[in-house]
Amino acid sequence: MNNSDNSVIRIENLSKYYGSFHAIKDVSLDVHKGETHVICGPSGSGKSTMLFCINGIEKYQSGHVYFNGDLMTPKNIRHMRTKIGMVFQHFELFPHLTALQNVTIAPIKIQKRDREEAEDNARSLFKKVGLENRMDHFPYQLSGGQKQRIAILRALAMDPDIVLFDEPTSALDPEMVKDVLYVMKDLSTSGMTMIVVTHELGFAKEVASHITFFEDGQIVETKSPDEFFRGNGSERTKIFLNNIINV
Ligand code: ADP
Ligand code: MG
Repeated sequence: MNNSDNSVIRIENLSKYYGSFHAIKDVSLDVHKGETHVICGPSGSGKSTMLFCINGIEKYQSGHVYFNGDLMTPKNIRHMRTKIGMVFQHFELFPHLTALQNVTIAPIKIQKRDREEAEDNARSLFKKVGLENRMDHFPYQLSGGQKQRIAILRALAMDPDIVLFDEPTSALDPEMVKDVLYVMKDLSTSGMTMIVVTHELGFAKEVASHITFFEDGQIVETKSPDEFFRGNGSERTKIFLNNIINV
């Protein structure tokens, strides 16, 4: 594919079934370099599944995903996904490794980077988010907010072209949410390309370039934050927004 428009991820007519259940229905989405796409929508609508299709955790039955203009295939996905960061709702840190080891394991084992260089790089990442005194802690010694920031560093340590976030703050105590959002905002304004599944509307308002409302395996609409919050969207989006603002 010609990639003159700087697309990092392009999804074309993606369909995914779990058995006979149609989880993703003919979804297309374009994410360009430097954009932050926020995806929201009801639980069970297929948001996680879509992220999992992008980074090869789940297979799909039809449609195409392009990464930096190249079609993803079963053959090249292993290589491509090393440049696609993923941050999960429940952190998924390796429990038997220290924070530092969690961040350096993939650069050392997968990218074959020199241990010292990987550790130096990790150290500067920890410093940036104020966790340099937590590098030798194991996950069980860390708070949820610290674990999630370390999970973000783990994604960044691979020098990714895009980071996918799947409800990164929804398992956190309220007072920890802002620390994680702060790191994500900083990442977005520094130019990282991101897809963020979240219902943190303040974050969406501040840094999203696009907000997509997802329902029943389909994209209902994609809007700029201005249009989205002005209530120019569909009736369905308005009802959803009212529900989450009034909880
Ligand atoms: P969301 O992230 O928007 O809450 P998911 O992508 O997790 O939604 O799920 C979309 C739909 O697919 C849901 O109905 C869910 O029950 C179903 N689903 C998710 N994972 C599986 C699976 N491994 N097997 C069968 N059905 C699944
Ligand atoms: Mg989900």
